[in-house]
Amino acid sequence: MRKAGILYCNCCGKMISESCDAQREDFFHFEKTWGYFSKKDGTSESADICESCLEQWMTQFQIPPQTVERTEIFEC
Ligand SMILES: [Zn+2]
Repeated sequence: MRKAGILYCNCCGKMISESCDAQREDFFHFEKTWGYFSKKDGTSESADICESCLEQWMTQFQIPPQTVERTEIFEC
């Protein structure tokens, strides 16, 4: 969640980044526009989740997400 240019984790509320070009850590961002087959049809949701909250969240999954080790790291 970005508020006045500062990026916060939606889950725990901690600051992820102070500005767009000074990212302190990596985070998970999602955006979902719900469609016809959802009760949320016509709405969009987005959130930013810090790495530790994501890790905690994923421990609740019955089937863990796929992990692929990347041999190449792309810097932007
Ligand atoms: Zn968090």
